[in-house]
This record gives sequence, C-alpha cells and structure tokens, in this order.
Amino acid sequence: MSERIGTCSCGQLRVICQGEPVRVSICHCHACQKRSGGPFAAQARWEKEKFRSEGVAKEWVRTGDEGTSATFRFCGTCGSTVFYTNDGMPDLVAVAIGAFCDTTLPTPVYSVYEDRMHPWVRLPDGIEHLA
Ligand SMILES: [Zn+2]
Ligand SMILES: [Zn+2]
Repeated sequence: MSERIGTCSCGQLRVICQGEPVRVSICHCHACQKRSGGPFAAQARWEKEKFRSEGVAKEWVRTGDEGTSATFRFCGTCGSTVFYTNDGMPDLVAVAIGAFCDTTLPTPVYSVYEDRMHPWVRLPDGIEHLA
C-alpha cells in the first residue's frame, strides 16, 4: 500500500499515512484561519489505524461552538500544526494537507463555514457546500 508522509516545517514532527485519505475538506471558520495562517484550512482525514506519527508533538485543545473538542498537534520548534483529532470523529485523524506538499492528493469534496469565506476564494467544481 502506498504511503504519504507529511512533516512540519523543520521536519521534526512527521506523519505517515497509508493509502488514500477518507476525504479532503476545506474549512473557512475563523479558528481554522488563525490556526493555519491562511484564508482557509484544508485537511485530509485518515482512518486512525492507517495513520502514525513520529517526533514530539505539542497539544492544544480547542472547544468549538458545538461543544466538541479538537486536539491540535503541532511542532514545538517550528510551530506547524501537522494533525489533529476531533472528539466528534474518534476514528479519524485530520492532517493539514500543506504538511504533504503533494499535488496528487484528492481534491476537497466539501467546504464548511462559507459564511466566513474570503470573497476572492474560488472552490473546485462539484464541491459540496455545508453551511
Ligand atoms: Zn517543526
Ligand atoms: Zn474550521
């Protein structure tokens, strides 16, 4: 099975993911903008058993509007958030797609929090819009 390897900026924190992600999505919410430093965040979700990490991750827990918590794992040296888990989706791990620097990742299939989307952002054809 193929592997995809993602890293933080300095390379200390790595993720190794087997096969293809369950899905790739985009979130325009303010928390994702602040975390990623970009106009939106894009993440690929893998089943937990097809995911492993190496290196030292710092953790930060954020409780969202709906009351669920997400635990973000980032590198304490360079600060990149590489992956996170959400207690509403206990079987999946989300990896920030920038960690892979891989243009062969699947196109995002849904987009959320579009009410906070920057007006100049253009999304892929056929993407599902979820609020
Ligand atoms: Zn790093
Ligand atoms: Zn978000």
